[in-house]
Amino acid sequence: MVDFSLSETERDIRDWVRNFVTRELVPMENEVLRRERRGEEGITSEEKNALREKARAAGFWGVQTPEEYGGMELPAVMAALIEIELGRTFVPFSFGGGADNILYYANEEQKQRYLLPTIAGERKSCFAITEPGAGSDAKELRTTARKEGSEWVIDGEKTFITGGIDADFTMVFAVTDKDKGADGGVTCFLVDRDMGWKSEPIEIMGERERQPAALIFESVRVPEENILGELGGGFRLAMQWIGSGRYLLPARALGNCERMVEMSMDYAKNRSTFGAPIADRQAIQWMIADSAVEIEALRWLVLQAAWQRDQGMDSRHAQSIAKLHGGVRANEIVDRMLQIHGGMGYTKEFPLERWYRDLRLLRIFEGTDEIQRRTISRNLLKGHASVSGSLG
Ligand SMILES: Cc1cc2nc3c(=O)[nH]c(=O)nc-3n(C[C@H](O)[C@H](O)[C@H](O)COP(=O)(O)OP(=O)(O)OC[C@H]3O[C@@H](n4cnc5c(N)ncnc54)[C@H](O)[C@@H]3O)c2cc1C
Repeated sequence: MVDFSLSETERDIRDWVRNFVTRELVPMENEVLRRERRGEEGITSEEKNALREKARAAGFWGVQTPEEYGGMELPAVMAALIEIELGRTFVPFSFGGGADNILYYANEEQKQRYLLPTIAGERKSCFAITEPGAGSDAKELRTTARKEGSEWVIDGEKTFITGGIDADFTMVFAVTDKDKGADGGVTCFLVDRDMGWKSEPIEIMGERERQPAALIFESVRVPEENILGELGGGFRLAMQWIGSGRYLLPARALGNCERMVEMSMDYAKNRSTFGAPIADRQAIQWMIADSAVEIEALRWLVLQAAWQRDQGMDSRHAQSIAKLHGGVRANEIVDRMLQIHGGMGYTKEFPLERWYRDLRLLRIFEGTDEIQRRTISRNLLKGHASVSGSLG
């Protein structure tokens, strides 16, 4: 039997997060907009940490972190439901106690130095694969690591690295065997900032929490024991990092869209032109209706992808579909909701223009729209997936 309802536990956790967002984050919204208008960070790291500790005191820590590392080890469906709730505000926040999935491939000694402090919030990581000449086509990596005695010497440049401005260490991907290339010739290294790499912020259309950096490696010496996973196993790790939480991106966008439509309905009921609220006009009603339909479709695409993960199925196809649909539709929805707000939608008094800029990224990072379409069509044409979906 197909059952679309939430379990009692899922509902309880979802409601707890919903209350947290309403009680702790939504009241910060006006201040976040004020600070961002002044060019400051919307929320400081002290404020973020204080909120994370507050959640931790209530037992909310490490959403998907295994229990043996002190986390809640919640399933993917639950993680998606949480992300949707967090998306119902634009205050940039995520719960503490998490670490990049590939850090769990660390050996015991590396776990002490990198994984555990990251989970504890004492160290910050960044994931560095993209280069000026290698974005969608990650196999074009040019950053090299060559062996000298017991060390590797890394040279090259990474670009658009989220968290690269203030990360304590990076998981950087470099070519260790040019002949093998992506097929066994790329290795992932854990490289502390004090080993010598430099970062330069990149100006973008999004707000400060999105700001990425270029990472420069000039003869950076890294000890052999800092290889993450296996020598030559880097490309597989990179694909695992990229593919693991793809469904969470459209989940957050879905929350954004729910909130925007609610805000826009309120606005439309209160804004009158030509003697009637604009909510009475069919042009406005259709924008609301179309958006609600797309939101509903997105909800099931996201939850279906997450459900497949929880079932141990290969969810990559479903995740690509959810990411593509989420990116395209959320951008259409934010455009419509901004339109309903008229001139006010274009101002920084309201968060619509902020969401408009922020959501644009969803169509670019972690696989562009075109790359998702390429993946989806290839899966279908090669018979790895069916248009009948996972139910057959
Ligand atoms: C804010 C931000 C944060 C990021 N964070 C990170 C990070 O933390 N770590 C990291 O490693 N990277 C990160 N990235 C990089 C991001 O993943 C890449 O920008 C993305 O993969 C696209 O690569 P590109 O920019 O080189 O575009 P390109 O690959 O040059 O693509 C340019 C255009 O061509 C299209 N295109 C490319 N190939 C094809 C094809 N075969 N068929 C049809 N169309 C095609 C693309 O879809 C796109 O529209 C981030 C990027 C941004 C903007």
